[in-house]
Amino acid sequence: MAYVSIPTYSRSIPERYALVGARCKSCGAINLPRTLSCLKCGEANFEPAKLSGRGKVYCYTTISRGGSPPEFSMQQNLVGSYHVAVVELEEGPKIVAQMTDCKPEELKVGLSVEATFRRIYEDEGMIRYGVKFRPARSIAQANLITKP
Ligand SMILES: [Zn+2]
Repeated sequence: MAYVSIPTYSRSIPERYALVGARCKSCGAINLPRTLSCLKCGEANFEPAKLSGRGKVYCYTTISRGGSPPEFSMQQNLVGSYHVAVVELEEGPKIVAQMTDCKPEELKVGLSVEATFRRIYEDEGMIRYGVKFRPARSIAQANLITKP
């Protein structure tokens, strides 16, 4: 991963902010990020598809000093090592994202996760937001959090 210009970033805001993929009208496959033609059938006839943000950790790694992509090197210097996962969304696509609100000992392949909207980094005077993933809360846990 390298430098992402403001125009390139801005064009991908629906994907980055709300996990909007492209559903192929021919075969139904969800393509995320958007592609010029469907990765499953090769057709190029899409409609927007808002994704649930729920999925499972497919694999993960820890980014530490010296291994951080340029886009995130400042973050690594400020907060230390952080976890990045490939998340297989329940609609099918696999995406790469940072993990958050997750203890290192919790992180494992197959962990149920949910997307959460977060500040990712700042570049060229623009704060760049996007999706990170955290362990999915059970309904009981969610009720405890939302009760007054
Ligand atoms: Zn298709």
